[in-house]
Order: sequence, then structure tokens, then C-alpha cells
Amino acid sequence: MRILIKGGRILDPSQNLDLVGDLLIEDGKIAGIDKRIEVSYAKVFDANGLLICPSFVDMHVHLRDPGQTYKEDIESGSKCAVAGGFTTILCMPNTKPPIDSPEVAEYVIRKSKEVGLCQVLPAGAITKGRRGKELTDFYALKKAGCPALTDDGSPLMDSGLMERALRLAKQLDLLVMNHCEDDNLSKGHINEGYVSSLLGIAYRSPSAEDILVARDCILSYYTKGRIHIQHLSSKLSVDIIRFFKEKGAPVSCEVNPYHLLFDELELLESGANAKVNPPLRKEEDKQALLEGIKDGTIDCIATDHAPHTKREKASLESAMPGMIGLQTALPMCLELVRRGIISLEKLVYLLSLNSARLLGVERGIKVGKPANLVVFDPEREWILDEKTNLSKSQNTPLWGKVLKGMVVMTFWEGKMVYNAVS
Ligand SMILES: [Zn+2]
Repeated sequence: MRILIKGGRILDPSQNLDLVGDLLIEDGKIAGIDKRIEVSYAKVFDANGLLICPSFVDMHVHLRDPGQTYKEDIESGSKCAVAGGFTTILCMPNTKPPIDSPEVAEYVIRKSKEVGLCQVLPAGAITKGRRGKELTDFYALKKAGCPALTDDGSPLMDSGLMERALRLAKQLDLLVMNHCEDDNLSKGHINEGYVSSLLGIAYRSPSAEDILVARDCILSYYTKGRIHIQHLSSKLSVDIIRFFKEKGAPVSCEVNPYHLLFDELELLESGANAKVNPPLRKEEDKQALLEGIKDGTIDCIATDHAPHTKREKASLESAMPGMIGLQTALPMCLELVRRGIISLEKLVYLLSLNSARLLGVERGIKVGKPANLVVFDPEREWILDEKTNLSKSQNTPLWGKVLKGMVVMTFWEGKMVYNAVS
């Protein structure tokens, strides 16, 4: 089967490619890139005015499967992913049971293959039951298909265990990821700041994040094990990571679109839907994160897609933290382009190429490579509502809002897995 995408702007900075022209897909691979391609017997799509980029890779997704499929499952999560332009997602192990054994990892892979929309990679837990006491069988998890390990949702507090995890992961070429918030300093609900004092709500301090970020960077510096800091949110943490990267420690990090576009004041507007961990912080934290993106301290953007039901989001204090984000990532990141903070090329690195590199996944628009592509309209406006939302949950401050930038088509290994038109 041949697919010809005509007249789009084909953009892949890793291949020095920025061309308005045609792209041919044949047998799952990119078969031609040129100003004009003429072939017989091809399904033709007009991409005039659209961008064609390497499809996105999300290192931080909660699919809630197994165990909490009333919030999301591998099928609904995969649908959200491809509608957002993602064809590789790393799903977090805080499921029920957790992904702490090869059996659960294999379940995720098997079910995602049955769904067949995108590549779902399981992140294995670092510790058994995510309890922070005893390491899992790293070798077995790697063999089952986990490229990375994390106890996400819970930080790994035990420094001795983290050191051992990093040494072991280095031998097995696994990426260790940590949700950095010191348990002892993060008992509250929202950031320590204006809104917490205004509403009289217990806070979690940025120091909770900074302390564990520093510890993990130090351990990575000494062990040379690869550590990836999840959902960076505090100003000082950006400085700490910048310092250790300069020292040559194999540290990487991600940031969520909402930490780049919202600050704590969003809580006054959106209430529990703006409650996330780590929390939305101050304007100065947001500015530091944007600076970290610009100078390369921050490697990639990950959504932390975290579905919860309306009941679980009833009040600020009782609400479970997190928001959905797979379908809103592109319009949010395009907002950074429109504001002149990042270029489109940088967006491709942040949403695709850098996260692919960290997970050891191939991406890039080159003849002979698998056709993993997203085609999007940076100008088209749409609304996230009952009609367009593909998640089982609705927890986002962007619900009902006009979003600018829409995925039109997504291709995974040459197969069209999403088409907004049909
Ligand atoms: Zn987390």
C-alpha cells in the first residue's frame, strides 16, 4: 500500500530537513521525499499548509491499566496518544497491580499490540510494589520490554537503594526515572505561595523537589548511572540540573506543558483540575523552566497524562493530583512557538527527537526509515469537549477552551492510526 502526502512542510531538524513538498510511504517506510513526487496507485492526502514532523514520543503517561480502567485503559489511552500525534508512549507503573514484574509488563505490551494504534512501552517499577524497600528484578523487566524504571507517583526516598538502582541500571543500560519530591516535605496539596496562604491550604514546598533532584544528580554523578528527573517544576531544580550536566553527570529531565504555561494562580480559576504533583508553582519558577528549555538544560516535554474521574477531582484538598494531557500537548507547545519562546525545530526536539533518544527509540524523517509521522495544522482551532475528547476522563483546566493547533493525521510504521477528517 502506497500513501502519498502532498504539499506539506516536511520538517525534521535532525536530518536538516525543511522542505515544502511530497512524502511517499510504502510498506510502512518512508520511500521518497521530494518537491514533487508522482506515482501511480497511491492513496493521496493533501497537506497544503500543514506540517509533517516525526511523530511524538511521550515519556510520561498514566494508562491506569491494569486495575483502574474506569479512568483510562490501554485502548482509550492509545486513542488519545495518536490523536495528540504520539506514536510512542511510556506508561507509568503505578497500576494495580504495579508493573513490578515481567508478567504485568508483558500484559501491557500484549494488550497494546492487540489495540495496535501505537507503541506502548511499560516503565517498570524500581522497587517491589513501589514501596521503596526492595529492588525489582531489573534484568527480567528489561527482558520483558521495559526501557526505563520508576516508582512514579511515589519518590524513591532511600538513597542507598537509589544508588544501587543506578549502578545496576548502568550495567543493563536502563534509564532510571524519579518523581522527585521528598515525602517528608510534601504532605500538602498545592505550592507554598500566595494561593496556599489565601485559601489556607496545606502546601508542599519546592525544597521537597530540590532536595531529591540534588541527591539524584549527585548519585548519578558518582555512579554514572543515567537518571531522568520527571516533571521538573522548581526554579532551583533547573539550576541544580544545569550544574550537574556541566559536570558531565548523565542527567536528563522532562517538563510538562502545564508547568510551562500555568502558575499557581490557575488554581483560583480551575480548582482541583489544576492540582498536580509537583504543584503549579510561581511565575519565577515558570520563567526558569522556560529558560531551561531554551538553553537545553531541559531535554524534553512529557505530558504526565493522568486521568481521574470527576469524583476524584471533587475538591482541592481531596482531589487526586494530575491532569490529562495527550491531546492538548501540541496546542500548548505551539503556544510557546507563537510567543517566540521556542522555534518549531525546537518543538520537534522537545516532543519527539530528544525523548526518543532517551528511550532508545528511532525517530526521523529519512528515506528507508519507518514512517512515524505527525501531520498537523498549527493554525486550526478546536475545542476539547465531549465530542473531541478520547480519554475516559475530563480532568484538565483546558476543558471547553479553544485550542490552537490540531493534529490532522498520525502515522505509525506507515499505518494511518489517526485522521481528524474521517
Ligand atoms: Zn510523578
